[in-house]
Amino acid sequence: MRFSSFVERIGGEGAAAWEIHFRASQLKRQGKDVILLSVGDPDFDTPPAIVDAAIEGLRQGRTHYGEVVGDHRLRAAIAQAHQAQSGQPTDPQQVVVVAGAQCALYAAAVCVLDQGDEVIVPEPAYVTYEAVVGASGARMVFVPLRPERGFQIEPETIERAVTAKTRAVLINSPHNPTGAVITRANWERIAEICVRHDLWLLSDEVYAGLTFEGEHVSPAGLPGMAERTITINSLSKSHAMTGWRLGWSITPVDLAGHIGNLALCMLYGSPPFIQDAARQAFAMEPPEVAAMKQGYRRRRDLVCGRLGNVKGLRCHRPEGGMFAMVDVRATGLSAQDFASGLLDAEGVSVLPGDAFGPSAAGHVRISLGNADEELARACGRIERYAAKLAP
Ligand code: PMP
Repeated sequence: MRFSSFVERIGGEGAAAWEIHFRASQLKRQGKDVILLSVGDPDFDTPPAIVDAAIEGLRQGRTHYGEVVGDHRLRAAIAQAHQAQSGQPTDPQQVVVVAGAQCALYAAAVCVLDQGDEVIVPEPAYVTYEAVVGASGARMVFVPLRPERGFQIEPETIERAVTAKTRAVLINSPHNPTGAVITRANWERIAEICVRHDLWLLSDEVYAGLTFEGEHVSPAGLPGMAERTITINSLSKSHAMTGWRLGWSITPVDLAGHIGNLALCMLYGSPPFIQDAARQAFAMEPPEVAAMKQGYRRRRDLVCGRLGNVKGLRCHRPEGGMFAMVDVRATGLSAQDFASGLLDAEGVSVLPGDAFGPSAAGHVRISLGNADEELARACGRIERYAAKLAP
């Protein structure tokens, strides 16, 4: 039987990158002593008050269809929080609740991009962007985030990449995989470029709640940006809720209407009891949220402290997010060979940076989503492995 041409656009080769992770997971299932530092899923549990709100919702029969674009109370809470954070006056009508930031990215992309459009994306980039943009028929145009600049964006590279076909810029800060946080000055320059060339800005802010240093700037609050910014966020990382599948977009009202139509034909709304849980998260920040953030920061310090002293390795100290990038170029190995050898020799899986884009070649990504003791153990193994490599 035949498939549509669409299936090719969503079936990119991002999968190859995960080969090490799949091999490591298999070894672990076979009972081998393997430490997985290759996925970005928080190891923390969802705060109990949030879990209780979902259970209460279930008991109260909040198990029917809900409002397609999201519970109006949750949308109001999201709008209020976004306004407080970004300074953008935000009406609940601008918010659409969907199944995770991933779903919001997809919905936004297919509602603003057309076949033949170009989307400027800094690389290394989160791997699903390829299929998200591909689904719309648009094409990604990459601009490099250079390791020697700490992977901080250089706005002039965006300006230089703009053509008559450019429709949007897709940016993630704090950044997966590098942990870089875009400075306010750079956001202001990016905003000017978007305004000057009349571009949409898709701002993926899923790690905003995990900003350790500097400030998280929501670009929708900058001059001229409210009408062109699509803010994407979720509780997945900040509240350890990846499995709940709840996220949202905040856009101009007309675009929210289109995303709402997509939500109607694709999701027919988000589960009401899950939205009850999300409302609880906004109603009163559970103490665990600050503790988790502190935990990631402590782990960041642990990993960069330990690996920073290892010959052949250099740790890029992430300012936010759940990952640390380690430069392994001085070992003489490619990231792929380093990661593969590390798994074979010491049973630790990390992802080669090349998977996220050529500018991260020679780097491996380490997830901070493991307990401190496990991370410390993994660092010991990485030290031992690197010591054998050092010329
Ligand atoms: N954007 C980035 C940069 C991510 O790393 C992730 C999750 N790994 C997502 C979006 C999707 O998050 P969610 O669980 O909210 O769909």
